[in-house]
Order: sequence, then structure tokens, then C-alpha cells
Amino acid sequence: MKAAVLRAYNEPLSIETLDLMPPRTGEVRVRYAASGVCHSDMTRIEGKRPSALPIVLGHEASAYVEEVGPGVDDLVPGDRVVMSFLYDCGRCYYCRSGHPNLCEVGIGMLRGGKLADGTTRFRKGDEEIHHMTVSSFAEQSVVPARCATKIPDEVPMDVAALIGCGVLTGSGAVFNAAMVRPGDSLLVVGAGGVGLNAVQAAAISGARVILVSDLNEDKLAMARDFGATHTVNPSQTDPVALAKELTGGRGVDFAIEALGNKHTIRQCYDAIRPAGKAIVLGAAEADSCCEIPSLTLPFTEKVLTGSMYGSARPRLDVERLVNLYLDRKLRLDELISKSYRLDQINEAFHDLHGGKLARGLIRYE
Ligand SMILES: [Zn+2]
Ligand SMILES: [Zn+2]
Repeated sequence: MKAAVLRAYNEPLSIETLDLMPPRTGEVRVRYAASGVCHSDMTRIEGKRPSALPIVLGHEASAYVEEVGPGVDDLVPGDRVVMSFLYDCGRCYYCRSGHPNLCEVGIGMLRGGKLADGTTRFRKGDEEIHHMTVSSFAEQSVVPARCATKIPDEVPMDVAALIGCGVLTGSGAVFNAAMVRPGDSLLVVGAGGVGLNAVQAAAISGARVILVSDLNEDKLAMARDFGATHTVNPSQTDPVALAKELTGGRGVDFAIEALGNKHTIRQCYDAIRPAGKAIVLGAAEADSCCEIPSLTLPFTEKVLTGSMYGSARPRLDVERLVNLYLDRKLRLDELISKSYRLDQINEAFHDLHGGKLARGLIRYE
């Protein structure tokens, strides 16, 4: 079984042949159909977010179930599934209180590079290779069954792959975290794989002003295609000033930051109206800090918050997004910029780094 392994930060991923141990209780072995290439994999390659090395990255994928472990009664071999990268145990405080996207076990798995029982299934000889829960830069993996949502046959596997990170996160920020209503106004900063999904979710929700800021003119054109009512290149025009101009001087109801940059986080905070909400989706570097004027907190009641994984209930939201796609309300085909084979994965990251991709896709079939 071939996989792309990260052995050292800032080094190319190495394509290696690994062994895969059988699924244990509550797990399934899957064969990947396609995997998205996401910025948060890149931040891990660059060591901006620490990982347990060596590790197989990749967290946005579609797959076929190949083998079912003990205690799995809702999946059978041959099922077509979308993966969600955040395991929800169903038992911890956050799962029980309606925030499965903050599951203690799931977040611990992402930090520690192990599966739910604290062990790994990837081996190279005697060497243990770590997981990033889904680990879709591999032909096959063993994953928690709770991370796999069955999808209908009509959904193509390439578009299905995108749902589990970029689509869920971007649309979830709008549907779940902001709860945008018809007539609302938004600023979306960053028109990549996540930002574009925030834009189309805002359009589906009936937002009146959808202002999108990005340095890349191609991405701005794509944002207009996905429903942006206004676009701005911050190298030419101040997005905060424009956000105010478009809302009678007040500021937008919501701002969504999809880059993970302290300057654009501040921009989002400045662009919202009093009692508005700025929602950060982008993963900044671990030691990055953002300052806001303290006095504005009591005087304006502005809210600066984040949304982990689109504040989603992953299995339910995957199902809803699949249905919106089948109803032709959610556009996914247009998000795929380019496809690569697994052995071209370093080229895919090079292109992503160069700002060329809305979404690059590794195809296994
Ligand atoms: Zn991602
Ligand atoms: Zn939990």
C-alpha cells in the first residue's frame, strides 16, 4: 500500500510502501478514491503546527469501505463514504453538550497522531507511522467508522472528497456559526477552498452584501461566480472602508476570516458593526497573536470568535451538504482546479503554495 509520508518539516513528502494493520473495534479499512490538498496539511508540512512524525497527512477525502472491524453495524464493504477529519466520541463533555466538533478525543487524535485507542495502524517494518485521523495521502487507511458518512451513488467521488474539510468548514461558518439570515451583510477574507464555500453558503442563505477580499484576481473572479456581490483587492482598496461604505457606514453583520493571518483577523474585527461577529476559520501559526482595541469590547459588543470545523455536527452536515449538491444548490465540481496522482503530491503543494488552486485533488482511481 503506497502512502505519502512526512518525515521531516519542510521536506518533500516521501512516497513509501507501508503495511496496514486490520481495523479494530469501531474502525473500518477504507480505500481512498480522492483526497483534497488543503492548506492545513501545508502548515503541518512547514512545521507551523507540530505533528507526531513520521505521519501520513491528508484529511479531506472520499473512499470505499473495504473491511469492517468489530462493533461496526452501520457500514458494509463497498459503501461509498465521505470522511470527516474530526472524530466525535459521542461520550465526552463536548459531544454530550452538542459540540461534537470540539470532541476531546477527536482533537487529541489530531494532536497525537494516533487513533482513538491511542495506537497506530500504519507500519513500515517495525516502525510506527502516525495518523492524522483520516490520513488520506495513502491508497488505504484504517479510520474510525464514526468519521465515515455513507453517500448516495449519484455523488461523484471526486466532488465528494471536498466535502469533509473545505466545504464543511466554509459553509458551516455561515450556516452554523454565523447563522446568516436573508438580507445580512458579510465580508469574506480569502477566496480559496474554504472562503469560496463561505461565499456560496452566504448566497444560499440570501445575504444581500457578500464582499470578498483576496490578493489574487483569479480567485476574486471565482468568488463573483460563486455569489460574491462585491470583490476587493486589498493591495488597491481597503476592505474595511469598503465594508463600511456598503453598509451605510455601520460595518458588516459578519466577517469570515479564511486565511489564518493576524492582520486579516484584525481587519475582520474592524469591518463588523457593533454587536457583529467576526469568525476566524484560518489556522494561524501556533505563536501568532492578534491585538484588538480593548475599549471596543464594552463599547461595541463586537464578537471575535472562531469556528472549529464549521461548528459542524459532521455526519449530519455531510448529509445536508450532499443533498444541497444533488439539488444543484451547492456547487462543488467547479471547485476542483487540478488533479494529481499520489506521486505528484509535492507538485500539488507547490501549486497550492503558489496560490494557483481553489482545490487540488489527489485521485486514486
Ligand atoms: Zn483542510
Ligand atoms: Zn467526544
